[in-house]
Amino acid sequence: MAAATASPTTLQVDVAIFGGGIAGLWLLGRLRQAGYRAILLESNGLGGVQTLASQGIIHGGTKYALTGKLTGSSQAIKAMPGIWRDCLAGHGEIDLRHVRALSDHQFLWSTAKLVSRMAGFFAGKVMESRVREVKGTDRPEAFQNPAFRGAVYRLDEPVLDVASLVGELSRQFGDAAYAVTWPDGLQFEHARLIRILGDDGVWRTLETRQTVFAAGAGNEPLLQRLGREGPAMQKRPLHMVMLKGALPPLYAHCLGASANPRLTVTSYPLGDGEILWYLGGDVAEQGVGRSRDEQVTAAKHELGRLLPWVDLNSVDWGTLEVDRAEPRQPDGRRPDCSFMEDSDGLAVVWPTKLAFAPRLAGEIMTLLSGRGVQPASEHSPLSLGLAPAQLAQPPWEKEQLWI
Ligand SMILES: Cc1cc2nc3c(=O)[nH]c(=O)nc-3n(C[C@H](O)[C@H](O)[C@H](O)COP(=O)(O)OP(=O)(O)OC[C@H]3O[C@@H](n4cnc5c(N)ncnc54)[C@H](O)[C@@H]3O)c2cc1C
Repeated sequence: MAAATASPTTLQVDVAIFGGGIAGLWLLGRLRQAGYRAILLESNGLGGVQTLASQGIIHGGTKYALTGKLTGSSQAIKAMPGIWRDCLAGHGEIDLRHVRALSDHQFLWSTAKLVSRMAGFFAGKVMESRVREVKGTDRPEAFQNPAFRGAVYRLDEPVLDVASLVGELSRQFGDAAYAVTWPDGLQFEHARLIRILGDDGVWRTLETRQTVFAAGAGNEPLLQRLGREGPAMQKRPLHMVMLKGALPPLYAHCLGASANPRLTVTSYPLGDGEILWYLGGDVAEQGVGRSRDEQVTAAKHELGRLLPWVDLNSVDWGTLEVDRAEPRQPDGRRPDCSFMEDSDGLAVVWPTKLAFAPRLAGEIMTLLSGRGVQPASEHSPLSLGLAPAQLAQPPWEKEQLWI
């Protein structure tokens, strides 16, 4: 009798996904809908690290064309807003009708100094279909102050409430998402034979036809555990800033002199009627290495220069240090596209952008059918007897140290 309980439970699946950020969750959804036996293993909480820390912008590449020409990034990402919009409308590859879009558009604004350069650029052929100038009351409240001397452009790319996105994906597909303990609760015989320790102290065995590492920054240690040297990863750190109070909602990039926005502001309505501003762009890139207080001071100065009429006297401030995890680039810069590399039944993926998750899932589906891994015809239960993976929290809910 003792032997029966001590012997590990074994489960055979088509695909095991490590990591429940957007890459893993989207892929799980696509696979389950196609009839594959797929499970997801998550060591922290669904939505995990970068996904819930992201600004939720479904880019179509305009942000990357700010120097005046379309870069590799902007070409590859062009199709993404359309794919997401179809999903949000309920006729795409995943039904996202219950996901909250915070805004269906964003704004780009230029300071007075850059107005003429930007006007010429946006009038150009490449951009004219994507961006149009807005004036007067069509501008967001933050740019209706008479002291504002710049120009404002509207860009029809949505901004999503990422917590609601993760919540919805988890609601639809989370029954196949389990908690694992890293590093002690996971062992690999090889990439497709995996042992997992349950919280009851019993090891389970998982046999897969395809394993996918979609664990963000966790891909590197997973690869090391397997004894694999690549693909190599890079991390690009950010020091994001959060402020909450009586702020106007704003979804906007401030155009600077480089291809990167000087400041990107997204907003999140908090339950108590307050609005949270989440600040990225150069402010977050250049804030790496600053203390929390220094970073808040730098952000105050930047907002004071760019939006001096916005009253910041009674807002609370917080910051978040977080790494973007990506395939290593020769120059350490931002990769142009999502990444997938498969070797011996192990695919390693980094979406590099939330927006690219559908593209990545599509690549894995193609890989599976290319390898002859077809959806199973019979559907025995997927239960491994492991604890279900829980949802992680967005950074502003985790923040304890509001200044
Ligand atoms: C501050 C910030 C803002 C961003 N803003 C945008 C934006 O506006 N628009 C956009 O398109 N992109 C944006 N991005 C990029 C985007 O967020 C990421 O490319 C994307 O979320 C990465 O998703 P992921 O699933 O690969 O990784 P993650 O979201 O990091 O998820 C990885 C998951 O794997 C889990 N994990 C780790 N190790 C293990 C293990 N051993 N076993 C099991 N699970 C494990 C983690 O707990 C985590 O849940 C932003 C990124 C950052 C950091």
